[in-house]
Amino acid sequence: MTHYDDLAPATRAVALGRPARDPGAPVSAPVTFTSTFVAEGEVAYARTSNPTWEALEEVLGSLEGGSALTFASGMAAVAAVVGLVPVGGVVVAPRHVYNGTTGLLDEREAAGALTVRRVGAEDVAGIVDACEGADLLLLESPTNPMMELTDVPAVVAGLRERYAGARPVLAVDNTFATPLAQQPLAWGADVVIHSATKYLAGHSDVLLGATVVAGGRVDLRERLHTHRSLHGAIPGPMEAWLVLRGVRTLHLRLERAQAGAQVLAGRLAEQPAVRRVRYPGFGGMLSVEVLGGAEGAERVCAATRLWTHSTSLGGVESQIERRRRHPLEVATVPEDLVRLSVGVEDVEDLWADLAQALDRALDSA
Ligand SMILES: *Cc1c(COP(=O)(O)O)cnc(C)c1O
Repeated sequence: MTHYDDLAPATRAVALGRPARDPGAPVSAPVTFTSTFVAEGEVAYARTSNPTWEALEEVLGSLEGGSALTFASGMAAVAAVVGLVPVGGVVVAPRHVYNGTTGLLDEREAAGALTVRRVGAEDVAGIVDACEGADLLLLESPTNPMMELTDVPAVVAGLRERYAGARPVLAVDNTFATPLAQQPLAWGADVVIHSATKYLAGHSDVLLGATVVAGGRVDLRERLHTHRSLHGAIPGPMEAWLVLRGVRTLHLRLERAQAGAQVLAGRLAEQPAVRRVRYPGFGGMLSVEVLGGAEGAERVCAATRLWTHSTSLGGVESQIERRRRHPLEVATVPEDLVRLSVGVEDVEDLWADLAQALDRALDSA
């Protein structure tokens, strides 16, 4: 199976994960609905593998530069990585990460399974210090929803210098950036996590997750595969197929979303109702803090017509959300923070809708 390593990521997103070009073969990967396979083949039972997952895993592995496994959801992938930690082990994680990840770590800690050390995502020295005796460092960059960036290469260098062979497994949740913006494995991470539900699938119609393990860590891939099989955290073949179809246009969608986000970030910075814009300069996600506190933020979300007030991100349609409406969201996320997932609509339509919603918030502030 060729990985077309000499080709650009956009080309690989389109070309990989397809059946062999035999005369009469389908051009697109079929959805293989089966629970079992005829004996004496490579795979016996469909909780272990499925050809539709494999097609998607081929594409995701190539884009991240490692070996991919698909999971039932992003959280199933996070749980599999957290499952690498031995009982009584230590996990280091930023204070602001996806609230499901925070919730899972808190739940595991409360159960006595592990200890969590919280760090600032941007504090490289603090992260390296906290990794003394740790089993897993679980980063997310940019962080959700604060949009903080971790200098991953600097963290890797710090860990290597300080702990050599005894360093923790380094996992990076690459959901926000996507492999087109950054490839943590090339920076020295051991495993990348994705909520493919977001940009990879791109149409807000499916949940799926993935892990991608660095070439040198076959041991980790094996353990994650075992976890997936034994915990049954497997995606349906139809879900895998939907993500595979979505990923064919990842580069087009992301380019458009990013171009829109860059325009909007600039204009939002000039908007009187906006206190602060959090945009790392790339990607389609940004957060703003608005006047009027939690109520002001709620009013903005309620006043948009085009932007949908809903959770999740990375779809073709633009979404807006006040994150603190979730009880699980960390209390250090500002009450007035509104997260924006920029879709692929016309940017002037997006701006007009956002501007009128912000004006309304200002009127009643
Ligand atoms: C949504 C999300 C997850 C969880 O993914 P699901 O597919 O919803 O289970 C994990 N990490 C990040 C950064 C996310 O945005």
